[in-house]
Amino acid sequence: MWTRWWLWPLVAVCTADFFRDEAERIMRDSPVIDGHNDLPWQLLSMFNNRLQDTRANLTTLANTHTNIPKLRAGFVGGQFWSVYTPCDTQNQDAVRRTLEQIDVVHRMCQMYPETFLYVTSSAGIRQAFQEGKVASLIGVEGGHSIDSSLGVLRALYQLGMRYLTLTHNCNTPWADNWLVDTGDSKPQSQGLSPFGQRVVKELNRLGVLIDLAHVSVATMKATLQLSRAPVIFSHSSAYSVCASRRNVPDDVLRLVKQTDSLVMVNFYNNYISCTNKANLSQVADHLDHIKEVAGARAVGFGGDFDGVPRVPEGLEDVSKYPDLIAELLRRNWTEAEVKGALANNLLRVFEAVEQVRMGWPPEPPPPTTSRQAAPPVSVPRPATPRRLPRRSPSRGTSWAAPAGRITATPPGPPASIASGGSCWPPSLPWSSVSVSCESWETRAPFRAPGVQGRPAHPGLRTPGTLLPACKDQHLLSGCLASPGGQDTWGQLRTHTHTGPQ
Ligand SMILES: [Zn+2]
Repeated sequence: MWTRWWLWPLVAVCTADFFRDEAERIMRDSPVIDGHNDLPWQLLSMFNNRLQDTRANLTTLANTHTNIPKLRAGFVGGQFWSVYTPCDTQNQDAVRRTLEQIDVVHRMCQMYPETFLYVTSSAGIRQAFQEGKVASLIGVEGGHSIDSSLGVLRALYQLGMRYLTLTHNCNTPWADNWLVDTGDSKPQSQGLSPFGQRVVKELNRLGVLIDLAHVSVATMKATLQLSRAPVIFSHSSAYSVCASRRNVPDDVLRLVKQTDSLVMVNFYNNYISCTNKANLSQVADHLDHIKEVAGARAVGFGGDFDGVPRVPEGLEDVSKYPDLIAELLRRNWTEAEVKGALANNLLRVFEAVEQVRMGWPPEPPPPTTSRQAAPPVSVPRPATPRRLPRRSPSRGTSWAAPAGRITATPPGPPASIASGGSCWPPSLPWSSVSVSCESWETRAPFRAPGVQGRPAHPGLRTPGTLLPACKDQHLLSGCLASPGGQDTWGQLRTHTHTGPQ
């Protein structure tokens, strides 16, 4: 009898090896696509993005969760590289910092072409799988990176952004972050402001995945209700398993199921166990829970490697993915379920997002030129879709004209200007500030009743007070201040706010 007891550990070890071998077999065919990795942030923090620094060599990079050998050992076949700039860059240099992080991802892919394949589509991911490379995608973490501009959003798309996390740990003027739910931030948008809804629609139209990690529950629900495509949580876990507000509560998980969306589980100890310590088995508990509530189609991985200070025992770096898969197999996950979590669920959601893009009504045709025949009079013309007004010069030196000389007419209906905003920062010489505004959509200068010209609107004399004419974020994104005759675009912002929705 005692010999049986003695054999049990041996049996356990052999079984463990069996599941590990099975995990590797499956992952050779279906490598993992991870939703969130902050290696680009490490490259900035450690090397100021100097990839040629010998210490930054990704084949030997030390003291990070991620390097090329670890990616290989972990069967990582797809990675959303996080493009992140901290919240304190909001309304300041967030766009520049975002562009620099996009740049470092591109340069990383160019520097290691045998390992990384920069891709922007689900087909690109499949191509990378076939070539045995890490499909490298860009996820922008934090809506402050678009600086409340649909134009910036579209430009980031052109530069490769394929998901946008609507907030980081701060509200944007148009979406609330998760700290609203802890009481550490004040709700501003009650989910999504009208402009936030525009952002969601534009992301749908472009074919960008919408990421709801980091947002408030109200923002999660508003977006899940509004989006025409499934969404992702690129790095969030289950609230019922660990009651952190960064995690996804069960009622939202049910919406995830209804919308065929995806939760990619975050491994950060504090979101796994709600303490500083966690282990691989506890991560599997989150995966089990999401599978139970939202279904196996809703499960994915978003380890948050290199973005967090503590990771679970057994999941110390990206090489450990096969151990987690082995644990799921041990918990009776089927091969199809495991493959879904590894890659197929993300591919499914991405393809759905791409289909929504393709199904979007096309842009209005260009106007008929004099060399084209006019349409026959008898054919009724379709209703003319709203055409964007002619673009005005973008913000910059071309804008640096005294406010009094701005004469363009507003592109939007003036009747809808009925709200307000506040200006920032308080260090400007307010007594000499004059203000104009610009359109959200076109950046066209906009004369706002009550604020253009001199003297400044009385409200401006106290920094932070409301500008009655600058609060409809559909129309107005910023203010032009001319303290001492010097125009200072970019130093003043309309902090939009909205009423209940
Ligand atoms: Zn994050």
